[in-house]
Amino acid sequence: MSETPNRTFESRPTVCPFCGVGCSLEYAGAGRATGAEGPVNRRGEICPKGAAAFDVVDHDERLTEPLARVGGHFVTATWEEAIERVAEGIGGVVEEHGPDAVAFFASSNCTNEENYLFGKLARLLGTNNVDNCARLCHASTVAAMNDRLGAGAMTNTLEDLSETDCLLVTGANPAEQHPIAFRSYLLPAIRDGATLIHVDPRANDTTEAADVHLPVRPGRDIELLNAMGAVLIAESLTDEAFLAERTTGFDALEEQLSAVDVDANARAAGVDPERLRAAARAYGEADRAAAITGMGMSQHTSGTANVHALVNLALLTGNVGRPGTGVNPLRGQNNVQGASDVGTLPDVLPGYEPVTDPEARARVADEWGVEPPAEPGLTETAAVDRFGEEVRAVVVFGENPAVTEPNATAVRSAFDSLEFSVAIDIFETATTDLVDVVLPGSCWAEKSGTVTNTDRRVMRMRPNADLPGNARRDLEVVAELGRRLTGYPEAFRYDGPEEVFAELTRVAPIYGGMSYDGIGEGYERWPYPAGAEGGTDVLHTERFASGDRRAPLVPVDPVPPADELGDGELVLTTGRVIEQFNSGALTRRSGTLTAMRPEDALLIHPDDAADRGVEDGETVVVSNERGTVTVEAATTPDVRTGVVFCTFHYAEPLINTLTGDELDPIAEIPEYKHSGVTVEPADDR
Ligand code: SF4
Repeated sequence: MSETPNRTFESRPTVCPFCGVGCSLEYAGAGRATGAEGPVNRRGEICPKGAAAFDVVDHDERLTEPLARVGGHFVTATWEEAIERVAEGIGGVVEEHGPDAVAFFASSNCTNEENYLFGKLARLLGTNNVDNCARLCHASTVAAMNDRLGAGAMTNTLEDLSETDCLLVTGANPAEQHPIAFRSYLLPAIRDGATLIHVDPRANDTTEAADVHLPVRPGRDIELLNAMGAVLIAESLTDEAFLAERTTGFDALEEQLSAVDVDANARAAGVDPERLRAAARAYGEADRAAAITGMGMSQHTSGTANVHALVNLALLTGNVGRPGTGVNPLRGQNNVQGASDVGTLPDVLPGYEPVTDPEARARVADEWGVEPPAEPGLTETAAVDRFGEEVRAVVVFGENPAVTEPNATAVRSAFDSLEFSVAIDIFETATTDLVDVVLPGSCWAEKSGTVTNTDRRVMRMRPNADLPGNARRDLEVVAELGRRLTGYPEAFRYDGPEEVFAELTRVAPIYGGMSYDGIGEGYERWPYPAGAEGGTDVLHTERFASGDRRAPLVPVDPVPPADELGDGELVLTTGRVIEQFNSGALTRRSGTLTAMRPEDALLIHPDDAADRGVEDGETVVVSNERGTVTVEAATTPDVRTGVVFCTFHYAEPLINTLTGDELDPIAEIPEYKHSGVTVEPADDR
């Protein structure tokens, strides 16, 4: 036990609040974390983000009292006053416009129990308008994989990826974004001789370990993947037995890919044709080849189509259903997998049961006592687009859409058009600046519950700190809103998170049979309890998760980027760096992490910089029709010509001022990776 003047800390193994790898850590004293030996980080190793996880816990900017807007300014309110204001605000909108005029944004940073209850709150209020920030990162991956294979999650486990012979990493940078997964599972495979193919327009730490780097032009992944498929077919590198037994639709795909001009596609994708052929051969000749996919693939208006093209490669080569193979999205937040598993999505109930399925709704009604609505709700991106029209109120739970949504200037105006808005958060953020009521919640270190990591492992979180001031545990806040906003107060009375989890396991079939005791200090993996002890490791072994023995092969045509380039424009692509995390709300700019890299920078190729008279380190103005951002330029050959890169972590400069709000037509994920911009020295303006 350790104490600061204001807070009490206790060291208990819990799960890192940052990326989806799910390392175990605990309080080490002096405001720092130390790794704890856990199911994923078996030697207790953690990365710089995990080590700095306690930066926010005792931060002096933590929200400690409810805030209510009066005359344009926030004043401190009691919990009763604040909750009453929320009940009046949401109740008034429901009374006048109906429950579908309210949108609920759930949190990938919060536990399964909190998100499950948040989804139940929305549905017992009478709407399926509930979504989480998976919409902004991997919704397209989930859509494509669910459509083709029957499950929108990693097909394999981190452990068995260390047995692979070839890693095809597309649009992901695991060396920086999932460091412990990279060091503990992927790097050992590479050191054992596995070939690493890295597809990314920016050379980064992952590229340093790669045998082949394909610096694809943003938005040209389908051309690249189809060209690889064409090489597989032309050079007979497909798995004939697998194609015959486990797939349908080969003839149509073969016809399409046989007509692909590999050199022309490589040129369109901006990569060397011979390197592309070498990559296809390495992937096709490997006994076990695994694809790892990230937001460089998913955050496009072509995101769903991109992942369809990747799934084609895995099926063509029989690289599904065996250890060391598969299609594996690495998830970005510690519970982005779980938030979706437990049903904070507008079209599915807990366990991915469609809201349109009467039997699924009836199963949920048996537990809830009320049947959820049958019509799919609005995605987060669609809801923001309809603020002030169909949507008149929003409940934001631990998310920061004013920073994370594209076209940020339009998002801020959209918030102004709402009749009522409330946020539950631990800090004032760009989003809490826009709402009517702010409820001070709990951070990761102050709560119990479970989270589900990137390879489907459900693990337990344990509190390491008490609450600051009058902040409350998120589960209690959501339950209180459930009691006050819905007509079913008894449906929100629980004796703690374990009881909520027990209900979740009865409602979500993939979690059926799990328990807190069973998880203990280890994990239980969904789908449970099929397959190996502790859950199912490798998916799709005999049958696909869809229930079918065969998965379809689907021809995928290139999709042109939504944002066409104007004269002299460069392609702005966005991403993350190891020293920061997403919108910054979980790290605060003044924290330990940001001290490692005090300034964000626009990465620009020296040739593009010279063409524009930009010097290394010079302040530049980056502009398009959506806005203007001023930022320091860093010249580097790591980013390809024609492309500039900037992180999306910060509210200032807010790079999402420049990103477009065109959406993938299937998954409604925004185009974050391809925005036309001009770049010029600030002094020239
Ligand atoms: S790899 Fe991810 S889960 Fe592990 S310590 Fe780093 S940020 Fe946390």
